Amino acid sequence: MPDVKEYAPQRADMVEKQLRRRGIEAPSVLAAMLAVPRHEFVAEELHSRAYDDVPLPIGGGQTISQPYIVAAMTWALRLRPTDRALEIGTGSGYQAAVLSLLAKEVFTVERMPELASSASERLTQLGYHNVHVHCGDGTLGLPEFAPFDALLVAAAAPAAPQPLLTQLAEGGRMIIPIGDADNQELQLIEKQAGAFSIKIMEGCRFVPLVGNHAWQKPPQR
Ligand code: SAH
Repeated sequence: MPDVKEYAPQRADMVEKQLRRRGIEAPSVLAAMLAVPRHEFVAEELHSRAYDDVPLPIGGGQTISQPYIVAAMTWALRLRPTDRALEIGTGSGYQAAVLSLLAKEVFTVERMPELASSASERLTQLGYHNVHVHCGDGTLGLPEFAPFDALLVAAAAPAAPQPLLTQLAEGGRMIIPIGDADNQELQLIEKQAGAFSIKIMEGCRFVPLVGNHAWQKPPQR
């Protein structure tokens, strides 16, 4: 059985120093970051580094985002307990677990089968029963479960994929890193009365979103 109490002091320290002091104010987001055992989402040999201020490798050349970025993107979505959320890029399942504590249901799509199945198993074992992992090209969204109140893209895209914009509910929010292979900026896109508004947030660096409505193959760095 996973020990979720382990690393509690490191987790509290992460929330205080990396999140609260850097301006993440929402108590609900801080509480979710305090609750999710991040070490359970990385390989055993990385457990002791799970609460460091860095992204970490999760296999397949992919990474789990730095805690601050997870919190900042989650906060930007202003989740309500009745919201249905969609994440693209499940990876380890960590971001989905954080979202699941703030939304009613979380759908998450991962293109790499090994990552999708290990994340799904891990989330079940840890008790995150309102997360549904799907394997496939997330740039197509999940039309059969749309619309979504909140949409989080955890990989870098050259532009917001059209199917995802279409699957956003009225009043919905999407957070997505947009740019080239090396540099992106987080964009918060909101749908109001059928129109989209875009707010530019901080710079960031994500692994590429590879699919039909993004990079056709991983861009060269
Ligand atoms: N949110 C994850 C980290 C994501 S890393 C976590 O908390 O651990 C980005 C992930 O996006 C990688 O696992 C990568 O395989 C996945 N990805 C890239 N392109 C994708 C696509 N088109 N559809 C679904 N997943 C994709």
